[in-house]
Amino acid sequence: MIHQRNTVRASLNDDVFASNDLSVTMPKYRMHEHEHEPHHVRQVVVDELMLDGNSRQNLATFCQTWAEPEVREIMALTLDKNMVDKDEYPQTAALEERCVHMLADLWNSPDAANTLGTSTTGSSEAAMLGGMALLWNWRRRRRAAGASSDRPNLICGPVQICWHKFARYWDVELREIPMESDRLLMTPAEVIKRVDENTIGVVPTLGVTFTCQYEPVEAVAQALDQHLADTGIDVPMHVDGASGGFTAPFCDPELVWDFRLPRVKSINTSGHKFGLAPLGVGWVIWRDSDDLPEELIFNVNYLGGNMPTFALNFSRPGGQIVAQYYNLLRLGREGYRKIHQAGYENAQYLAAEIAKLGPFEMIYDGRGGIPGLAWKLTDGVEPGFTLFDVADRLRMSGWQVPAYTLPPNLEDLAIQRILVRHDFSRDLADLLLDDYRRALAHLAKHRPTVPLSEEEAGSFHH
Ligand SMILES: *Cc1c(COP(=O)(O)O)cnc(C)c1O
Repeated sequence: MIHQRNTVRASLNDDVFASNDLSVTMPKYRMHEHEHEPHHVRQVVVDELMLDGNSRQNLATFCQTWAEPEVREIMALTLDKNMVDKDEYPQTAALEERCVHMLADLWNSPDAANTLGTSTTGSSEAAMLGGMALLWNWRRRRRAAGASSDRPNLICGPVQICWHKFARYWDVELREIPMESDRLLMTPAEVIKRVDENTIGVVPTLGVTFTCQYEPVEAVAQALDQHLADTGIDVPMHVDGASGGFTAPFCDPELVWDFRLPRVKSINTSGHKFGLAPLGVGWVIWRDSDDLPEELIFNVNYLGGNMPTFALNFSRPGGQIVAQYYNLLRLGREGYRKIHQAGYENAQYLAAEIAKLGPFEMIYDGRGGIPGLAWKLTDGVEPGFTLFDVADRLRMSGWQVPAYTLPPNLEDLAIQRILVRHDFSRDLADLLLDDYRRALAHLAKHRPTVPLSEEEAGSFHH
């Protein structure tokens, strides 16, 4: 008995790595029969996470990787809040509602207090809901006119994958305007070429994924106005403002892209991108309650009360939404403007500096889109390395600066891109530039894509 007690006491005092759990292999693909000490398991899990990339050095992502301590506190405090349960958490629901109205107002809704909108898990779900509203409204118009409604199409420029999903899931033909070497975005003329009576809507992107640029929403809206006058075909617009919805209102207030254009019926954005909220929140807002078909809204009574819901998921965490509310209140327009302005300045700085480092030509230099930059190898130059080689080398020092090829018709063109986020300071930009220089120096010495000379090849074999 005494002996046993001593063994137990000894194991309680064990160093975590010398413990029964960590000194052996932990199960990975099958559940163990028995429990483990929480602090042991915590260590095992934390250690696994250590091998992930460092998110703040990930210059590929649009999503937030930094938060004020207050946001972390709010996230911990809201662990139990289920966004769908508006009866149990009416105040969380009220905060969501306030965010909807603030965004409607930010996007110049003519009647911001009465618009409809909802939080979502991100822009992908928001886009799905916006697309569904376009599809349902188009079907209603077609049926009312006694016309067929079995061949819907949607027109867009180079879009994020969520619109490919929308098109496939709902059997909508996606008329995606391909890129050309002299045109990386949709233009009014390219849109009008593709419009017909089966077009459920046109979706310009404010902050194109591949190049960070804004598509010309106002010019497209005007072309569609003219098209209506010419043909009687009236095509609504939805703006994918995943990033731009939270940058343009603060840093480009003169740019007309939002509900100031009557043709823009709905807008989505990602709260967790330039909305500065933690991962897991997006928004979709309709211009007018008539633009959201009633059939898409379900009323649920089994949580107590009668609750309208329009979302793909049912239960969903509420913390991100509360944190979004915190940000809107905490920062105001001035705070968002200052943060994003710093991002633009850092992006423009990096664009100027990277252009000096080698045969790089900026295709986006941080002006006319979201805070970021994108470049390609200068045409006709053979530097002996590719942008993929540069990306690999940068990864050695932890930086993720993606290189990728563009979508059709520019599949042969590789570019590299940086998103400049809230937490990317000028000092970090300089540290990145140092590593970029080192990467290029290395590649100059060990030219990866130059075929080995016979002599060099021979020296490998001896
Ligand atoms: C990121 C992004 C999306 C998808 O948004 P999530 O919030 O990641 O679901 C859609 N469209 C554009 C333009 C984006 O940048």
